[in-house]
Amino acid sequence: MNQERYSRQILFKHIGAEGQQQINHKHALIIGMGALGTHLAEGLVRAGIGKLTIVDRDYIEFSNLQRQTLFTEQDALKMMPKVVAAKTHLMDIRNDVDIDAYIEHVDYYFLDTHIHDVDVILDATDNFETRQLINDVAYKYHIPWIYGGVVQSTYIEATFIPGQTPCFNCLVPQLPVLNLTCDTVGVIQPAVTMTTSLQLRDALKILTQQQIDTKITYGDIWDGTHHSFGFSRMQRPTCQTCGENPSFPYLQTGEQSYATLCGRDTVQYENKAITHDMLIQFLNEHQLNYRSNQYMVMFEFKGHRIVAFEGGRFLIHGLNRVTDATHLMNLLFG
Ligand SMILES: [Zn+2]
Repeated sequence: MNQERYSRQILFKHIGAEGQQQINHKHALIIGMGALGTHLAEGLVRAGIGKLTIVDRDYIEFSNLQRQTLFTEQDALKMMPKVVAAKTHLMDIRNDVDIDAYIEHVDYYFLDTHIHDVDVILDATDNFETRQLINDVAYKYHIPWIYGGVVQSTYIEATFIPGQTPCFNCLVPQLPVLNLTCDTVGVIQPAVTMTTSLQLRDALKILTQQQIDTKITYGDIWDGTHHSFGFSRMQRPTCQTCGENPSFPYLQTGEQSYATLCGRDTVQYENKAITHDMLIQFLNEHQLNYRSNQYMVMFEFKGHRIVAFEGGRFLIHGLNRVTDATHLMNLLFG
């Protein structure tokens, strides 16, 4: 590996040649490839990460381009899956990085399959359910994870280290209220980069095996407020994830047949029995217009835009309730 490109990072006294070597041999998993995910991925690839696993279930739309910095208009026009476009652009930045990209919904089965040689997990999701799942898996397998959240002009970040810090669940009652979503109240780029700067700082410390402060950092880049507080004493002994008798409750929920996308008027529906070939045949028989690329098929049905991925996974736009999605899919394929 050519080290010249890392010379300024090696000169930085807290990393040095030894730290750089460590970074070059580590493996990071980034969950989500939206605003946070694209910044994190680019930052880690430029820093010299050895291997990156990226996962996201979505495709690129024009409304993503304002803050999802790896993507281009061409990616949006071609409706490229986010991880596919991200991998292409990341390899343009550095072609000796090893990247595994998955167009998938993250559930327990995905994490259980892909987590075992991972050194750090970076949260780039937009929902609490996936974070609870990451938290359980991280504590079960003793892998550090870095939480990041952004909405409007606010940012929040914390790192959880199994065996060393209380977990995300212990902290949830203390978290500043951030239950708004970017899709309803918007988000600006500087808030994204505040979040990912904090996450990348902690990632570099973890990858080079350095001490991390047990604290949560949050603020508002628009107002100029910036706070942090320590959470090392916030562990609840009865916590089901990091307490005395962990049961990892979020790993017990079993397979879900569908899930709601965060605040975007979109429902994800899954039915593995519906293959791409079946779908194309069905659309042709019913003379429904569609667009497709090698990853997905997009069509309209009863005023809803529906995008089908391999493996029987559908994103149905213009719906908020899973029951409406099931009804619509029953009308189509029932
Ligand atoms: Zn806990």
